[in-house]
Amino acid sequence: MNTVKGRIAARCAALVMSVAIVALPIATLAQTKISYHSNKYSTQDDVKLGRQAAAQAEQQFPLLRDSQVSSYVESIGQRLVAAIPAEFQHPEFRYYFRVINARDINAFALPGGPMYVNRGMIQSARTEGEMAGVMAHEISHVALRHGTAQATKAQKYSLGAGIAGILGTILAGPTVGQAAQVPFVVSFLRYSREYETEADLLGARIMANAGYDPRDLANMFQTIERQGGGGGGGWFSDHPSPSNRYARINQEAQYLRVNNYPRDNREFLAVNQRLRGYPQAPTMAEIQRSGQRYPNQGDEYPTGDRADYPSAPRGRVENPSSRYRSYTVSNVLRVSVPENWRELSDQGSSVWFAPAGAYGSTNGQVVYTHGVNFGVAQTNNSNLQQATNEFINSLQQGSGSLRARGGYQRTYIDGRSALTISLSNTNEATGRPEIVNVITTQLRNGQLLYMITVSPDNDYYNYQGVFQNILRSLQLND
Ligand SMILES: [Zn+2]
Repeated sequence: MNTVKGRIAARCAALVMSVAIVALPIATLAQTKISYHSNKYSTQDDVKLGRQAAAQAEQQFPLLRDSQVSSYVESIGQRLVAAIPAEFQHPEFRYYFRVINARDINAFALPGGPMYVNRGMIQSARTEGEMAGVMAHEISHVALRHGTAQATKAQKYSLGAGIAGILGTILAGPTVGQAAQVPFVVSFLRYSREYETEADLLGARIMANAGYDPRDLANMFQTIERQGGGGGGGWFSDHPSPSNRYARINQEAQYLRVNNYPRDNREFLAVNQRLRGYPQAPTMAEIQRSGQRYPNQGDEYPTGDRADYPSAPRGRVENPSSRYRSYTVSNVLRVSVPENWRELSDQGSSVWFAPAGAYGSTNGQVVYTHGVNFGVAQTNNSNLQQATNEFINSLQQGSGSLRARGGYQRTYIDGRSALTISLSNTNEATGRPEIVNVITTQLRNGQLLYMITVSPDNDYYNYQGVFQNILRSLQLND
């Protein structure tokens, strides 16, 4: 008896094996090849940035506090994460899934893993597979590191573009027009069509691995479309051209083998019923217009310093306070800046201090109109002036309008010999002429420490003294 059963089982296994051996290479060949884009950031940077952006997102949008809904969405998310193909897995990434109590059909994921699904998205999906499709697509953007790949491409102007600069890329507001009404915007990265296609294709693969029909991702496009695109903004507007994508996903789906996984919609329907019991959620735009903040959310993910970038410098800049506050920057230096300036940094290579209204994100980059920036540049040049020249050249490569107004002058930083040079520039956000001063000295390890000051031409007179005070306060601890 046992042997007969065993023989049948073995024969079945052999049959499955032969099918797999025949079928797999064809399937693998027909699947579209996906690879990483060039990326100058480390996967650790993805994690760090995602955490900062998540902290900001969670202050701006109310999370739905319902443990049944949360644990359901989390379990679907983790099932999808486990199905990411090995070549796109990053053990340091930490995927987690939260529900925003907003009506729009939307979802977004941040580098390194934090992901947010709107209540409206769950409620508009017809099946668990459709909801999972959107999540698999978003997970794919994370796994393919599209956020930092895009920042690598976009970051041309690097006055202090460290990690702090790229955070602005990730948190960049959608459009200037909208930004006027909605000063604090965590927007959803707009990717190129190429990136979207890749996220669709990898998303379809993840779906199949996780036991979902990959066509459910395509179906979700139709579902959203039927519901009028989910309002003005939302996932649909960030993910245009649904008919192409529908066809493309379905085409890819032919080559994917769906892993056997018992699927049913019971839990999905129960969760939806629960959601219908809540009062109607506001839209994300309504939430942002209300200006309400949610400071105690997400505190289980400590993030260190939080940068807060509105989506364009707003122009009205407070006068520098006459009281100063001192900061330690990366254990390299100590500096005093006006008390009403904020530190905008993470622990990356560059730190800004600037007043409210003097910084914001424009064209995917953080732009400052007033403030000081400290950073350390790598150099192999032991001659301070030559090293500074290299550094200025790198700044000029990013900003075509940056021009020296005169030559170098000698100065001191904490008693150490330093150089200063004044440059003129056109501010990328305001288009106004500005004065950029660069002061450099060499650290004991040979690296170049720089301080950059920025202020509009017509404000320079008011800020000159402040910049002098800041320079005089500098203490080096290298
Ligand atoms: Zn996308």
